[in-house]
Amino acid sequence: MEFKTINPHNGETIGVYKGLTDDELAEKLDNSQKAFESWSKVALSERCTLLKKAGQVLREHVEEYAKMISLEMGKLISEARNEVKKCASVCDYYAEHAESFLADEIIKSDASKSFVSHQPLGAVFAVMPWNFPFWQVMRYAAPTLTSGNVGLLKHSSSVIGCAQLIEDVFKKAGYPKNVFQNLIVSHDATEQIVSHHAVKAITLTGSEKAGSSVAALAGKHIKKSLLELGGSNAFIVWEDADIDKTVEIALTARMMNCGQSCIAAKRFILLEGVYDEFVEKFTAAVKNLKSGNPMNEETTLGPMARKDLADELQKQITNSIEQGAQLIYGGNQEGCHHEATVLGDVKPGMAAFDEESFGPLAAMIKADSIEHAFELSERSKFGLGVTVCTENVELALSHVDKVSDGAYFINELVKSDPRLPFGGTKISGYGRELSKDGIMEFVNRKTVYVK
Ligand code: NDP
Repeated sequence: MEFKTINPHNGETIGVYKGLTDDELAEKLDNSQKAFESWSKVALSERCTLLKKAGQVLREHVEEYAKMISLEMGKLISEARNEVKKCASVCDYYAEHAESFLADEIIKSDASKSFVSHQPLGAVFAVMPWNFPFWQVMRYAAPTLTSGNVGLLKHSSSVIGCAQLIEDVFKKAGYPKNVFQNLIVSHDATEQIVSHHAVKAITLTGSEKAGSSVAALAGKHIKKSLLELGGSNAFIVWEDADIDKTVEIALTARMMNCGQSCIAAKRFILLEGVYDEFVEKFTAAVKNLKSGNPMNEETTLGPMARKDLADELQKQITNSIEQGAQLIYGGNQEGCHHEATVLGDVKPGMAAFDEESFGPLAAMIKADSIEHAFELSERSKFGLGVTVCTENVELALSHVDKVSDGAYFINELVKSDPRLPFGGTKISGYGRELSKDGIMEFVNRKTVYVK
């Protein structure tokens, strides 16, 4: 089987990659088991040193890696550079903290001594998406390899060049052979991988459909899974918010990465008193975006990653308008390039409210009170995060329990940070990445008891 990666901006072929045969895959899986047997015995301090080196490799190759990201999935080159630098920061973070996170945890009980000891599991299989092709992989690999597991990656078929470069980061840093392996396979090979004895856990970032299918296989083979799926974050604006500052945050929250982020703000829930001003200023900011080649430094809105994704967004816009939404700005598509679009008067029952819109589409929703805003926010099957913008931080803090999502941000867009747990509720998935929680997901927390 052959895989081709395509530049979404101009349709040119970037790379052609030969897929693994079943036998080649089986050999890699067996190698993964062998690599685990020695890697898990390497001192934690040595594993931390190698991770620090991986961070250095990332920093030394920012331009090369950013270019591949931009070519394969259309991210603005400046955003791609930031993505690579963020990957280096997650390496630094776990290199610095893994020893304290993985230290024995003493617990008083009726034993003379009892504690929790942390041991690696084996190979952790990652199914990853194209939208943050370096970051999504590194945020799993940094903690997971450092705790003594080995990694197997099945990346999105549209970013195989990035996947190869990530494998190379670990080689360049000096990791032993096969501690991290990129598998060039189609998703038909998933069961062969999940069922292999070396594989002890699975992590997937992507769509509901892929998550449900891979988690079902993990369940069938009784392996732990972690899912980080879609989102439709509410961005709530109260009447006392500083609208100019809020619009600035809102624009990044929606349009970064051409809107293709699970934690992007997708539903702007505006209190009646600020609806008109916010919509007017937000739309003016959207009009200033400059669409074009993502490799060009002046471009501020690149193409979407694939034409079928842009087609899907277009369908959601058309459906929402038919369902009563008002087209305020944009709405047009040309291949992978989709105009930044603002829809007004969006309500529950419309596609732009109910579905995840994975592209540059902002849905403006009116709320008649703070309570109503939270009710609207909760009317979603997703649960990644919510933003509230207000000058009254104390009041916003008193509403933390109104939100069932995995994150609640005040006066800031929902974003990931190596130091903070990251993950969702409802159909946005389960489990937590990053911080101490992230490294704890794929270890055996072993209870030790001395009478
Ligand atoms: P997918 O979920 O299809 O792709 C993500 C990863 O899952 C890819 O590696 C893909 O491989 C793999 N995959 C897909 N189906 C299966 C399966 N049955 N078994 C095993 N692996 C599978 O996302 P798309 O790229 O098609 O994007 C569709 C939608 O998903 C987006 O519009 C967005 O709503 C959501 N999404 C959410 C992301 C997030 O960050 N949470 C990221 C990306 C997408 P392959 O490429 O070979 O199909």
